[in-house]
Amino acid sequence: MKEQLDALSAAMFADLGTALSEKGLQELKVRYLGKKGELTAVMKCLGTLSPEERPLAGQAINAIKERFEEEFASRLAGVKEADKLHRLASERIDVTLPGRRNSVGTRHPVTLVMEEVSEIFAGLGFQVAEGPEIELDFYNFEALNFPKDHPARDMQDTFFLEGERLLRTHTSPVQVRTMLRHAPPVRIIAPGTVYRCDSDATHSPMFHQIEGLMVDKGITFGDLKGILTIFLNQYFGKGIGMRLRPSFFPFTEPSAEVDIACVICKGAGCRVCKNSGWLEILGAGMVDPEVFRHVGYNPDEVTGFAFGMGIERLAMLKYGINDMRFLFENDIRFLSQF
Ligand SMILES: [Zn+2]
Repeated sequence: MKEQLDALSAAMFADLGTALSEKGLQELKVRYLGKKGELTAVMKCLGTLSPEERPLAGQAINAIKERFEEEFASRLAGVKEADKLHRLASERIDVTLPGRRNSVGTRHPVTLVMEEVSEIFAGLGFQVAEGPEIELDFYNFEALNFPKDHPARDMQDTFFLEGERLLRTHTSPVQVRTMLRHAPPVRIIAPGTVYRCDSDATHSPMFHQIEGLMVDKGITFGDLKGILTIFLNQYFGKGIGMRLRPSFFPFTEPSAEVDIACVICKGAGCRVCKNSGWLEILGAGMVDPEVFRHVGYNPDEVTGFAFGMGIERLAMLKYGINDMRFLFENDIRFLSQF
């Protein structure tokens, strides 16, 4: 038994000397002193010894056990201290390093343009009006002189919902809602999101419009041209060329498409303006008397004009963006340029 004990104690203290972690030390303790430990097993054999041998062997085992526990405690303290130093070193903060800034977002170009346009018209006395994006057929079409089954409805690819509901295809229903609530005079702009089934480099199924409406006694086409001239000069810069071409919209009569001189080539002709020197920028016209009848205005008493334009197009021309999809892909490298 003495030889067995010597061998066991040599192994125990050698192991203690090489254990480097708290976990490793605890495993050693279990391995030698635990209920099924190797030293515990030797102790259980004491009963097989003669009465003379037993006390000596018992003392030897206890001595090994005590020494092991002493060394165990000192090794454990050492390992814990080393751990602490290591942790402190790894967590040390270099206060001389520059701090990390919170990154600040930028406003979306569509928002920027919407706000700039609203501000210009606010300066001309227009108030901002808003309406729902889920509309009834009546406000989006019927009151705007698009009778049911009228081919003019095909001009706008509509997302129809259940019942009479649809996603508004233009911000014009806001004009109808405003006129139904307020007697003339009216002077509003309506910026907002609109929806059409259309998607390519120059069309998005969701886009933004801003519309204007002015109704009062004696409003003429000259007033319309005057307001638009002021707006385009403020938005694109003084002296921008402008022209009106006859057009058709169900809710205005007469109607016009408004072009500006190409902002890229200044009218000389380029790829963007398809060598015409002109860019179509908005639609406008005198409010059709039929629309006034739908909202309870007397077309013999008041006249008015309306105009509408796409915010994305205004943004693309101002910032030189050649693909509308950039505006909706939310690539932070693109958006942070504004
Ligand atoms: Zn051009």
